[in-house]
Amino acid sequence: MLFSELGLGPDVLRAIEDKGYTQPTPIQEQAIPCVLQRRDVLGCAQTGTGKTASFTLPMIDILASGRARARMPRSLILEPTRELAAQVSESFETYGKYHKLSMALLIGGETFTEQVKKLDRGVDVLIATPGRLIDLFERGNIMLNDIKVFVIDEADRMLDMGFIPDIERIVSKLPKNRQTLFFSATMPPEIRRLADAFLTQPLEISVAPPASPAETVTQALALVHEMDKRKALRHLLQTEDVKNAFIFCNRKRDIAVLQKSLERHGFNVGALHGDMVQSKRTETLERFKQGEISLLVCSDVAARGIDVQGLSHVFNFDVPLTPDDYVHRIGRTGRAGKQGRAFMLATPDDTKLVGAITRLIKREIPMIAIDGLETAEFGEEDGSSRGRGRGRGGRGAKPDSRSEARPPRGGREERPPREEAAAPREERPVREERPVREERSARDDRPVREERQPRESLAAAESRRSNEPRRDRDRDRRRRRDDDDDDVPVIGFGDHMPAFMLRSARPRPSSEASTEEG
Ligand code: AMP
Repeated sequence: MLFSELGLGPDVLRAIEDKGYTQPTPIQEQAIPCVLQRRDVLGCAQTGTGKTASFTLPMIDILASGRARARMPRSLILEPTRELAAQVSESFETYGKYHKLSMALLIGGETFTEQVKKLDRGVDVLIATPGRLIDLFERGNIMLNDIKVFVIDEADRMLDMGFIPDIERIVSKLPKNRQTLFFSATMPPEIRRLADAFLTQPLEISVAPPASPAETVTQALALVHEMDKRKALRHLLQTEDVKNAFIFCNRKRDIAVLQKSLERHGFNVGALHGDMVQSKRTETLERFKQGEISLLVCSDVAARGIDVQGLSHVFNFDVPLTPDDYVHRIGRTGRAGKQGRAFMLATPDDTKLVGAITRLIKREIPMIAIDGLETAEFGEEDGSSRGRGRGRGGRGAKPDSRSEARPPRGGREERPPREEAAAPREERPVREERPVREERSARDDRPVREERQPRESLAAAESRRSNEPRRDRDRDRRRRRDDDDDDVPVIGFGDHMPAFMLRSARPRPSSEASTEEG
């Protein structure tokens, strides 16, 4: 199919041609005509599928006629992180270059003044993270009753980060007769209920089974001892043809240590994590995209949605704590049809985490031996580690066929529930209420997703909160919102019972992989 068959206007088609796209991706093929017909869309699609263009391209055409009024944006796109919001705004600039649409980006970590000025002039496209949008709404800088098109992107990530109550509040301020486009990489029951509450007879599109790594990514796993990890990484960086790479760590403390260590060994390396001030995050990412920095040691803040053209490698210096994160991390490479390579370093203590990943992706990750380093052995999935060394690796990073080194088998089992897939209890990360900024420095050595506290029941939370002084509750709410960070996600709804949870879940459609009219 050609872009010209989708019903897009000539100026948008010209911008697509300038960008060099020859064919729409499957999600674009299905979503664009439907969005142009002003229907709601429920898209189950990961980043890397071209989903951003599937909503930005038709929105440009829809918004081309009409004019924005002061403080009354005509469309709203919610993104879970500042980086994703910035990326979507770049898409609007690229595809909307022959139009005169005005756009504002409302993200935390930047001053209000410029953002407010833009709103005052009137914007056609408003791209925002939920916390900053609510702040500006509460200050009276923005009205949402002229929104014609509303997009929720990465809804499952919003859920992970505890943004759902904020989103419900935002939706309650929107006009009822709007068009809603809702995208999520996965479709767990909470997300489906939310979609049911927000959408009207949507076209449902599912372009890839959730959590499947792209075929364009070649994966490998090296099982080493903890003390050998840095050496193993350096070896891979030297023997692989690395043009540019993300190197993922689980702990902020380790990001700094690894960055310094690589610098000492002469690598051109930067760092990216959620505790950095926004200007530094943006600057580092920009320098990386421009090729001034070739390696970026990062937290999962870089794992979702960040689009760096032609990233050659991803290294998991640490095995991610949840298997979904593995898929998102390695999905930074092998994008838009290019080939990519993803290596993971595991120690015997990571046995359970590796098992959860192989079960999720339904395949084993080929093992490699690292030249000059002893290959370790997997422990038992119950957490006990056998811990014996298994001799030195052969030359280079070659696939290791020795069967004992294999991770626990994946492939046949159903995907484990989240709880089971995570780390053993004592080392499980927290997704807790976010800290106030000042507390951060003392927390540098915690895992990026810190220890999870036992969750209070909803009833207990309600009763506790009703006894709390109102001042404290307001302060808590402000705190949650002020910190529009995306690095310390919160699971669930805290003490808020969102209205959509009270609705009954609609049964899932029987066919996952096809397009359905809902
Ligand atoms: P997304 O899933 O929106 O993050 O897009 C992933 C990447 O695919 C981005 O780098 C886009 O520029 C690129 N892309 C989007 N649509 C197309 C297309 N039709 N042909 C080639 N590349 C595309």
